[in-house]
Amino acid sequence: ITETEQAVLDEIEEKDVDFLRLQFTDILGTVKNVSVPARQAEKAFSEGIYFDGSSIEGFVRIQESDMRLVPDPDTFAVLPWRKKEESAAARMICDVYDTYTGEPFEGDPRRVLQNALDRAEEMGYTVNAAPEPEFFLFEEDDEGRATTDTNDAGGYFDLAPKDLASDVRRDIIYGLEDMGFEIEASHHEVAEGQHEINFEYDDALATADNVATFRTVVRAIAAQHDLHATFMPKPIPKINGSGMHTHLSLFTEDGENAFHDEDDEFNLSEEARAFTAGLLEHAPAITAVANPTVNSYKRLVPGYEAPVYVAWSDRNRSSLIRKPAARVPAASRVELRSPDPSCNPYLALAVMIHAGLEGIENDLECADPVRENIYEFDEDKREEYGIETLPSNLGAAVDALEEDEIIYDALGEHVAPKFVEAKRQEFEEYLVDVSEWELDRYLETF
Ligand code: GLU
Ligand code: MG
Ligand code: MG
Repeated sequence: ITETEQAVLDEIEEKDVDFLRLQFTDILGTVKNVSVPARQAEKAFSEGIYFDGSSIEGFVRIQESDMRLVPDPDTFAVLPWRKKEESAAARMICDVYDTYTGEPFEGDPRRVLQNALDRAEEMGYTVNAAPEPEFFLFEEDDEGRATTDTNDAGGYFDLAPKDLASDVRRDIIYGLEDMGFEIEASHHEVAEGQHEINFEYDDALATADNVATFRTVVRAIAAQHDLHATFMPKPIPKINGSGMHTHLSLFTEDGENAFHDEDDEFNLSEEARAFTAGLLEHAPAITAVANPTVNSYKRLVPGYEAPVYVAWSDRNRSSLIRKPAARVPAASRVELRSPDPSCNPYLALAVMIHAGLEGIENDLECADPVRENIYEFDEDKREEYGIETLPSNLGAAVDALEEDEIIYDALGEHVAPKFVEAKRQEFEEYLVDVSEWELDRYLETF
């Protein structure tokens, strides 16, 4: 038993934790739980906890259903939203192992990300990532079901009293801090009822764990205030949707930021440019993973601060990749603006990292930044600049994923075909549906 594991056992004792929730995610990014009595913690560390994987959607085929969960002691956290009189519960995020082979299970999204990080490590890098998840807070109706009515009329960076949700947001932040988050900033977003909470960058694996935890905590604490928090990318037409911009940088083994170059006009190193070029080259396929719902594509339209065009810039927000100003060398990074918070953060980070590393490995040349507002370009001008557009719907994005060997392979043999199958099915269901919009427009006209 390691020192960290012992520290967890001590904390369980000290805080009177009765139950452990062992967590992992399925391919779609949904957090799954296996609850065990806390006295099984030691066994969980030494042997793992066995479970029947066939009950987890998209996880395994029936014939290979025996899985073993091994908790990562670094992810131990006592859940903060339990009431005082209830017994304490804690969670740990787990790696999934195949019972028969004893090997890490390749259908585990955390494993898919770990494979990307292993590739980075072989190239001499660690990967840092910081997400900017946005979400809406909506009222619940009398039956406790989510509506799309917002509970405030605030706007970008508004302060109370206009921003009535600020005490909910404060409670959410306390809850996150209890779970070990370092909150950088939080603010009211552009749309009514829309919020953003940024947390400190971390290595990419911890960041993916954090995103999964973040969504759970935000929803649980909003519910205590009778509000529904949603990470659906575009809940209301014609106003800004919710993105999850993702900042990325590579650090070398001696702790230097490999993306920083003092002498470069944008403070970007050769590696940073090649990484950016890799992201741009594989952007269409990445979209299927970073924007995995039908609704994601209602956000990726011109005019709402969400990206549509495959280009990078050091200033404007209409491009796919932005180079944010960095005050210190450690902060030189690139920001991918396409991901939305409905994605599986493990898979999304995995494909972004593979794309960027591919750029470095192949010395990809990075085009010049585009400083104008690309939303205002017409097709000719975009062609002149060589600017492509992101896939405009889930079906097109899945096509792009299947055509891009690098990104498809980045998901691994197990996840890639299952992901494609699930998303094709989702898109086909959507295609044959008849929407409210169609009824409004056609029912009485024809
Ligand atoms: N809500 C915008 C989006 O859909 C982003 C706004 C911002 O720049 O923070 O990506
Ligand atoms: Mg924002
Ligand atoms: Mg941003």
